[in-house]
Order: sequence, then structure tokens, then C-alpha cells
Amino acid sequence: MNAAPDHIAAQLRAGLPAGAVLTDPDVTAAYAHDMASFCPAGIPAVVVLPRSVEQVQHVMRTATALRVPVVPQGARTGLSGAANASDGCIVLSLLKMDRILEISPVDRIAVVEPGVVNAALSHAVAPHGLCYPPDPSSWEQCTIGGNIGTASGGLCCVKYGVTAEYVLGLDVVLADGRLLKTGRRTAKGVAGYDLTRLFVGSEGSLGIVVRAVLALKPAPPPQLVLAAEFASAAAACDAVCAIMERGHVPSLLELMDRTTIQAVNALAHMGLPDTTEALLLAAFDTPDPAADLAAVGALCTAAGATEVVPADDQAESELLLKARRLSLTALEAVKGSTMIDDVCVPRSRLGTMLEGIADIAEKYDLTIGVCAHAGDGNTHPTVCFDAADPDESRRARESFDAIMALGLALGGTITGEHGVGVLKKEWLAREIGPVGVELQRGIKQTFDPLHLLNPGKVL
Ligand SMILES: Cc1cc2nc3c(=O)[nH]c(=O)nc-3n(C[C@H](O)[C@H](O)[C@H](O)COP(=O)(O)OP(=O)(O)OC[C@H]3O[C@@H](n4cnc5c(N)ncnc54)[C@H](O)[C@@H]3O)c2cc1C
Repeated sequence: MNAAPDHIAAQLRAGLPAGAVLTDPDVTAAYAHDMASFCPAGIPAVVVLPRSVEQVQHVMRTATALRVPVVPQGARTGLSGAANASDGCIVLSLLKMDRILEISPVDRIAVVEPGVVNAALSHAVAPHGLCYPPDPSSWEQCTIGGNIGTASGGLCCVKYGVTAEYVLGLDVVLADGRLLKTGRRTAKGVAGYDLTRLFVGSEGSLGIVVRAVLALKPAPPPQLVLAAEFASAAAACDAVCAIMERGHVPSLLELMDRTTIQAVNALAHMGLPDTTEALLLAAFDTPDPAADLAAVGALCTAAGATEVVPADDQAESELLLKARRLSLTALEAVKGSTMIDDVCVPRSRLGTMLEGIADIAEKYDLTIGVCAHAGDGNTHPTVCFDAADPDESRRARESFDAIMALGLALGGTITGEHGVGVLKKEWLAREIGPVGVELQRGIKQTFDPLHLLNPGKVL
């Protein structure tokens, strides 16, 4: 039998400052879900906003004593329902733990609390000549804790890699309130199993990240962007393959299809070329970006680009990146609702993937816009639909599943960076198989024997 919300709140208040425990249903309802469609969300019993490690420990000890599930949350920009509340749970929002505790230019690390917003960290390290590369398009809202929870990626990952490559060490409050320290703050270190890496992408199901040691890089020179227009998505994908095959290392390599371009123009009046079938954005932050762009521009032309336009300056480059970052938001405005997929395939199969997505859109009679971290083979086919139309909603869900099946058939993964959450739970077993599921369940059991942490997510 679940503990009564009043009792849970009273026990929590005993170890938390005034104002840290929210019970007003109108307020707690605002913490019920993240930004994914088609994911069930329950009603939390309480929302807590701790400000210290000790306070998080108190929350977990209370939850364990009362056997109440806990759902950790960052900024709730997630796209898989991984931060959705379950009925009667404690929502543990880490937003108030938002201090940057240390920036060390010598060690090239930052030590941060989980509620630090991704962009805030980037801005804070810039004066030291450093950067924190993982840059989800939601970087102005999403938090480092959420980035670690989902192992998030972003635009510059094609050159600099994803969140997992930047998390050196973690402090984690376990389900029973114990504090675990993993990893290191040294440049190297291989002591024991890599528990740090295990927590990255664990979607709040193994413990609460309360502190992270993050690797920083020397800030590269500003990047210059080139836009290449193509009469078909297939030709744009050929260009991607040629760029990678010739050994170029762009700092981003992104694709927007016609639906996406038109959606961005409609939302932000950016004047993108909206009759073109595919727009490829390539950027270099090398010492001579203009020379690299010229070489890549030639490869685009050879692959059939109808127009190749290098940005004149930083301002124009920034505008193109802004357009790309707006893609998912713009597609949402097309029909009011979206299901954003996140299938990643080997780069060499990107063209086949995009062709297959077009076939799926036709079969299900739906608008599916595609933007992609093309250099990573990571597509975001975005099904645009009217949630008030039951038939269209059913077709949207079916097409979403068909896209994942296609990705797996092409040797890909159901999620490149958004995570499994609730949305893709049924699909995880198809990807990792029964032995993988059994071992992953064993790991969950070890860390969370009472199954209190983010129940119903991932597995
Ligand atoms: C417009 C838009 C663009 C996006 N672009 C990208 C993109 O380019 N790349 C990308 O990877 N994602 C992208 N996303 C998805 C999303 O922003 C990322 O998944 C992000 O990492 C989520 O961070 P958050 O703070 O919002 O976390 P939340 O959504 O609140 O939580 C995400 C997960 O992390 C867990 N969690 C949060 N904090 C902690 C903690 N302290 N300890 C343990 N677990 C925790 C939660 O339980 C949940 O499972 C985009 C989303 C939107 C809306």
C-alpha cells in the first residue's frame, strides 16, 4: 500500500528547508512529464527541490523507508518520457543544484552540480579558453544531469563525441541514500569497473547524480559553415559519405529535408531555400576553415549539389546553425504534435534510411520531416500529426515503430542520443536480445533492489 502524500511530505520536510517540498496539485502537475508524445505520465505525490547532496540523501532514505518511487528530473526537455512521473512518486528535481563548483584550466575539468544548464557551463568556461563540447540543440534549457541521464549528443559530436566521452567522475546518491563516488579527476585512470560510464545513459534508474567531473577541451577557433543544396536526399547522403571517406573532420555535418526547411521558414522567417529537397550544413573550426569548406564544397558539387554557399562570416554561420537548432520546434508547429524518432544507422546506410523513411511517410499518409546529425548517421525523423485525430495518431505511432524496425534492419540502433525512456521500452529487447536484457536487469537489481528509482523506464 502506497504511503499517503501528506505523510510522505511530512517525512521529507523533516530534512529539507522550507519551500523545498511542493504539494499543491496545480504546481506538481507541471512536473508530470517531459517533452515526448505518447508517453504515459502519472501524478506525483510531491515534488522536492533539494539544494545539497545531504538533502538528496535525505530524500532517498525517506523514499526507501516509505517504499515510494523516485523520479529524478532535470529541465524535462527529454524526448522519450524518461523523466515522466509515476503515480504517487516523489519527483526529485535537481534544478536548484545548479552551481559550477570548480573550473580548472590546468586539469582541463569542470566540477558541477547536476542542475547546471548546458549553455551556462559553456559560457562559464569560455573566458578560460576552454569549451564543453556536447551541445544538444536544447542546450539553453537542458541540464548536465539530464545530459548525463540520457547520454546526450548534439551538433558538434561528429568531431568531438558525445556526453559519455566527457564524464570523468560522478558522485551518485544510491537508492538507499549512500553516496557513491565513481571515476576520477585525472587525465587517465582504469581502477576497477567503469561505473561512471554505466551511469551515463542510465536515465535516472540506477542512482541520482549529484556532482560531475567533466572534461573540457581547449576552445577551437570559431567555425565557418557551408550550406549545400541538393535535388534529392540521396545525393546529400552521397556527399556525406564522400566527405567522411576522404578523411575530412567537420565540426558539424547536419542535414535538413524540405519539410524541415519549410517548417523553419514558417516559424522563424529565415529565408532558407525552401524548394530544395535537402540542405547539408558542414562546418570547420580548423585553422583554415575556408580551405576545408572549399574542399568539401567540391565534394558536394561532385555528388550533385545544385548550389554550394559558404557563409561569409560568423554571423551568417550562426544564423544557419540557429535554423538547424530550431528544426524540432519548427516541425512541432506543422500539425501541433510530433513524434520525434532518433534512429542512428551506420553512415554508409544513411541514404537507404532516408529513402525508407520517405516510403513509410507515403505508406502511412503522413508528413515526416527529417533533420539529422548526418555525419553521425543519426536521424531524427519527426512524424507530424494532429493529436485530436485518432486515426492519424494511430498511423503516427505505427510509422514511428516502422522507422525503428527499418533502423535495426540497417544495422542501426533505436536511439542515438534521446534514450529509451517509456517510448522505446518495447524496442530495447529487440535491439539487445534476451541475454542483454537479463544482464541489464541484474545490474538494475544490484543498484536498486526495491525498484524505487524511475520505475517503468528503460527495461
Ligand atoms: C528542442 C529540443 C532539441 C533537442 N535536441 C537534442 C540534441 O540535439 N541532442 C540530444 O541528445 N538531445 C536533444 N534533445 C533532448 C533533451 O534535451 C536531452 O535528452 C537532454 O539531455 C535532457 O536534459 P534535461 O535536463 O531536460 O533532462 P530531463 O528530461 O529532465 O531528464 C532526462 C533523463 O535524465 C534523468 N536525470 C535528470 N537529472 C538526473 C540526475 N541528476 N541524476 C540521475 N538522473 C537524472 C531523468 O530521470 C531522465 O531519465 C532535445 C530536446 C528538445 C526539446
